[in-house]
This record gives sequence, C-alpha cells and structure tokens, in this order.
Amino acid sequence: MSHVLIIAEHDGRQLNLSTAKCVSCAVQIPNAQVTVAVFGQDIEAVAASAALIRGVTRVLRIENPASVHLLSAVIAPQAVALARCAYTHVFGPSTTFGKDLMPRIAALLDAPQISDIMAVDSAHQFRRPIYAGNAVLTVDVSNEAIVVGTVRTASFDTAPATGSAAVERVSVDAALPLHTRFVALSGASSDRPDLQTASRVVSGGRALASAENFKLVYELADALGAAVGASRAAVDSGYAPNELQVGQTGKIIAPDLYIAVGISGAIQHMTGIKDAKTIVAINKDADAPIFESADLGLVGDLFTLIPELRAQLARS
Ligand SMILES: Cc1cc2nc3c(=O)[nH]c(=O)nc-3n(C[C@H](O)[C@H](O)[C@H](O)COP(=O)(O)OP(=O)(O)OC[C@H]3O[C@@H](n4cnc5c(N)ncnc54)[C@H](O)[C@@H]3O)c2cc1C
Repeated sequence: MSHVLIIAEHDGRQLNLSTAKCVSCAVQIPNAQVTVAVFGQDIEAVAASAALIRGVTRVLRIENPASVHLLSAVIAPQAVALARCAYTHVFGPSTTFGKDLMPRIAALLDAPQISDIMAVDSAHQFRRPIYAGNAVLTVDVSNEAIVVGTVRTASFDTAPATGSAAVERVSVDAALPLHTRFVALSGASSDRPDLQTASRVVSGGRALASAENFKLVYELADALGAAVGASRAAVDSGYAPNELQVGQTGKIIAPDLYIAVGISGAIQHMTGIKDAKTIVAINKDADAPIFESADLGLVGDLFTLIPELRAQLARS
C-alpha cells in the first residue's frame, strides 16, 4: 500500500483548489491512502475544507506560530519530519508555492523529485511533459526512497468536496531554521478570480500596445467573471504584471474558456494553455498560429471587437 502525504496550499483562510487537484493525482496510485497536511496557525477552517475532499483519508492540522506565512524554509523540515513517519510519497502542487517548497523537501529527504506529474502509471512510474509540452517523459523512480513530486494541476480535475475525512491535530518535532524570516508580502491584491484555478481566463498580448489599453482586457474579463492573463511580450513590455504571465515560463492553466486577445500563439505561450477546454482567439492576422489551436476565432482589430463583445455581453 502507498501512503501519500499532500502538503496543502492555502492563504490562512481558504484552501487553494490546487490541493484537490493533487488529491485527484494521488488517488490514481493503486491502493493509495491519502493524507493532507495543513501547516499554519488558526487553520481550523482550512483543515475542515481539506477533510471534505473526496479521496482524502486523513487530515493533519499542524499549528505553529512559525508557520503562519507558509515560508518554505520553515514548512520543509516539518513536512520532512512527518514524511519520515510513515509515508511513501510526498506531493505538492506545481504552483509557485509547490515549486518553492517541494525541492526543499526532496533535498532534506535526499530523495529524487519528479516535477510536473501529468499522469500516474504506477506507484513508482509517472509521466511528465518536457520540451515545452512537445514530448512526454516516462519516469521510473526507485521504491527505496520516498517519492517527492509536484503535480501539474492543469492535468487533473478538482476532486469534489464530498468526502468526510477525520481531522487530527498533531505537533511535529522539527528544528526550524533561523536564517529565513518573513518581512513583508508585496503582491497585487485583486477581487478577480485566481488565474491558476479560474474557469474562465481572458489574456492580452503585445497587440494591446500599452498598459492603458490593457484595461480593455480587464474590462472584458470582469464582464465574464474571468481571471486575467498575459503573454510574455505583454509582461516584458510592462503592459501587465509578471504574475499574470501564461506559458512555459509563466502559469500553466486549464480553464474551461480561454480568450486570447492579440496573442500570436507562440509555442511557449500555447504550452501554458494546452489543457484549456475551449480556446477563443481574437487576432487581426488570419494566418496567426493561434488559429491552428483555437476552437473559435475572430479575425479583426481587437480595438473594435472587444468593445463590440462587451456591448453584446451587456445586452445579454
Ligand atoms: C525560453 C522562452 C520562454 C518563453 N516563455 C513564454 C511564456 O511563458 N509565455 C509567453 O506568452 N511567451 C513566452 N515566450 C515568448 C514567446 O516566444 C513569444 O515571443 C510571445 O508569446 C509573443 O507574445 P504575443 O503573442 O503577445 O506577441 P506577438 O507574437 O508579437 O503577437 C502579437 C499578435 O497580435 C496580433 N495583433 C496585432 N495588432 C492587433 C490588433 N489591433 N487586433 C488584433 N490582433 C492584433 C498580431 O497579428 C500578432 O499575432 C518565451 C520565449 C522563450 C524563448
């Protein structure tokens, strides 16, 4: 039997959907018992949400004032102390949180890490994309070490909230480092849906031509209740902040609807949306590569089409 420990991603109040996607991955391991570890302080509600995820057998609530900001340097030794107890696998999401934390866990365990797990063949064989998603690598790992993995959240559905696992409050005996401390969090706060988990995303590209014009993308997104994304060209040109970048070196997402506005469809961008269910492209060049992948295409000038679309949405 495999015992999988999943490190929950949350903001202290809400569980991130990436955790339920990790559970969907973990339950594909034959005979897996899935435990979710929730680190933090005053995290009763988060732990209760984790207990509802179908497929979870146990939730461990590990309260510690030092964990309040989920610094990976502080969480990693605690996760390692837990993992050494009884676990065969330790998984986290392939998000900014997981990409920061999981390599530390792997290093402390002296275990191999498999990044971006997109499919499970067995307890010790997984598949992951390489070359910007153009090839798939099958990775076999030794069954002598604990398997540490990041889960490519775009490849797995969100496990439904129909479970009823037990929540146990546990304490972990681990020496915490003094070299890393929380100073401040500087990040854009937004009421818009989270780009990595939103079901609808509107992204803008270089064609927007300025940060001022990029407001068109925000307005269309707001009309659709969508998150906002951007191509690297739009980010590099300063039209949109870095955290909105979608693609190989940005966020990998799998929304139900992805609207690409003035984006050419370079391979490095498309690798970030290859699991999107419906792709809509708005581009004035009928030969733009994005039309090869789009389910729906609008050929025309975005500065005409976006206001028209918004007007139609306002009428409907
Ligand atoms: C190692 C590496 C990693 C990379 N990672 C990423 C990544 O993570 N994400 C990413 O996006 N890119 C990434 N890139 C960059 C990528 O190769 C492209 O350069 C980038 O995606 C282009 O952005 P764009 O489509 O906005 O711009 P462009 O390629 O310049 O396309 C702009 C499009 O807008 C259309 N257009 C122009 N004006 C209008 C108008 N008025 N109305 C409608 N359409 C119009 C044009 O026809 C064109 O198709 C990476 C590149 C490298 C080498």
